[in-house]
Amino acid sequence: MSLLTPTDKVVEPSNQLSYRVIRSSRKTLAVYVYPSGEIVVRSPKQCSDFEIRRHVQSRERWITKTLTAFLEMPGQLNLSYETGEAHAYLGELYPLLLATGKTRQAAIKEDKFQVCVRPGDETAHIKTTLVNWYRQQATAVFSRRLDFCYKAFSHVDVKKPKLKCRLMKARWGSCSSEGDVTLNLELIKHPIHVIDYVITHELCHLIEFNHSARFYELMVQAIPTWKQSKADLEKGVFLYGSF
Ligand SMILES: [Zn+2]
Repeated sequence: MSLLTPTDKVVEPSNQLSYRVIRSSRKTLAVYVYPSGEIVVRSPKQCSDFEIRRHVQSRERWITKTLTAFLEMPGQLNLSYETGEAHAYLGELYPLLLATGKTRQAAIKEDKFQVCVRPGDETAHIKTTLVNWYRQQATAVFSRRLDFCYKAFSHVDVKKPKLKCRLMKARWGSCSSEGDVTLNLELIKHPIHVIDYVITHELCHLIEFNHSARFYELMVQAIPTWKQSKADLEKGVFLYGSF
């Protein structure tokens, strides 16, 4: 893995790019560029090294542009909503593929985040279309994960909370004195185990309102590996960026 620092030279299109290949039962080739400077090619099993190399070469301009952009903005990723930019869903990154059509819609198809906007639409419309899609998924996923996480509390006298989801700037979740749990929509970009960690944190607050020793005992009982999930959440913020 190559870690770029601002003093490194920007890769010129004529240079050989080094990348990691992950072969799987997928149908298409896709290149991913990460803020760390790492380039990953996801490839169908039968693709030859030559075909992969040729595909990387055909994407070289975009790769170089993306690497340069990452170099220029250390710290948290700023999303630009341009074709090729990686957007996260449940901990996986998908390159954005923009198209125009009659209706605004979004979907993950063939390992791409396919977003259709109307002719003449601006970045704000792309963003709103994506956020609406995320919100739909989040409503279903968060509700399923709450059902799952609540099972660990079945022996405690605590009512299953009502769930809300909204974009929040400074927190991942909160719980009200009435016992409602609100989750940050941004969480849907993170893996399931990270979502479970945040939900469980809020469920523990229904029993222990403060971050007391008893609170952390409850956390360990419900999710023994919660510290790793917390670390993954923090890492994800850097990798996925926010709306
Ligand atoms: Zn808390």
